[in-house]
Amino acid sequence: MSLLKLPNFPCPKCYDRTGVIDSRPKFEQRLVWRRRRCVACRFTFTTTEKAVEEKGGKSVRA
Ligand SMILES: [Zn+2]
Repeated sequence: MSLLKLPNFPCPKCYDRTGVIDSRPKFEQRLVWRRRRCVACRFTFTTTEKAVEEKGGKSVRA
């Protein structure tokens, strides 16, 4: 299983790869908060992940 393999998020400064250094669920806001650090310039920043509500709860026809 590779469910814990997170997609990479580019550094806002130099667009290099970043690693997650901390992760916290925020249940009351229904999102996940992640602290990230760039592997190249060591810039640290925060991202949040949230489910997008889909209209009608059905998949859209292609
Ligand atoms: Zn960077």
